[in-house]
Amino acid sequence: MPHIAYVNGRYVHHMEASVHIEDRGYQFADGIYEYIAFYNRSMLDGAPHLKRLERSLKALSIPMPMSIQAMNVVISELIERNGREHGGIYVQVTRGVARRDHLFPKNTAPALVMTVCAPKFPKPVEIKHGVCVITTPDIRWGRCDIKSVALLANVLAKQEASSHKAREAWLMDGNDVTEGAVSNAYIFTKKDVLVTHPLTEGILGGITRDVVITLAKKAGIAVEERAFTLVEARSAAEAFLTSTSANVLPVVKIDDHVVGEGTPGKHTRKLLELYIDHIYKQTGFKF
Ligand code: PMP
Repeated sequence: MPHIAYVNGRYVHHMEASVHIEDRGYQFADGIYEYIAFYNRSMLDGAPHLKRLERSLKALSIPMPMSIQAMNVVISELIERNGREHGGIYVQVTRGVARRDHLFPKNTAPALVMTVCAPKFPKPVEIKHGVCVITTPDIRWGRCDIKSVALLANVLAKQEASSHKAREAWLMDGNDVTEGAVSNAYIFTKKDVLVTHPLTEGILGGITRDVVITLAKKAGIAVEERAFTLVEARSAAEAFLTSTSANVLPVVKIDDHVVGEGTPGKHTRKLLELYIDHIYKQTGFKF
């Protein structure tokens, strides 16, 4: 299967794709990215992902390298050239290439790279039995709502999770769970209320989060967008996480504490079913 990347206006073989050493993404993590899943060669929720990219770039005063309409064209072309039915696309925009200086360079065009990867579906065993998470302090910067390429704190948290054989790390701001290193975090209280951190500068507003909240409300589930504590999470009836690659994934253990019955809960399973249906309606893909 060909593996083709898009780099600043050119389609190139992945192995040969490269960016300049003075790219500000490399020097200062001065850039933004998106990860978008595609099924049957069509993007899932492409519009909100590209809107979020635009919003993140705006927050950093980086101009859009091309219009959203043009990005859609390049993405479709890239999917075709890679010949993959299902997978993911990374779209990465940096402030561009300039001699090293903290100040924004003048007259420098943003750099745009897109790469395609194999799908990152959760394992059937994870869906069936749920996953474990650990907790660790949230040491990220204050603008987690911007999907910045500065992911070092997320990398360290995810590595810590892996060393404890956990799927994800839930990040703690004092007593509150903000989100995961690479996903959003949720609980169901014993009163059947779905609780997740509100959209503040302390979390990334997940596209999956938006969809899941809408689906939950449509299904008559009470939703509270508020911070929840670790104590509350440990005694919750159910817990789960969401992301573009994990979809809706049940969480059955937080550190050494078993959540609920220790198996995926009925509300979480329902939300997964609704989310899978959302994917099917948009792309025709059946899990
Ligand atoms: N929070 C963080 C920190 C993430 O990295 C991600 C995944 N990009 C998410 C939440 C989930 O976002 P989405 O549903 O848009 O994939």
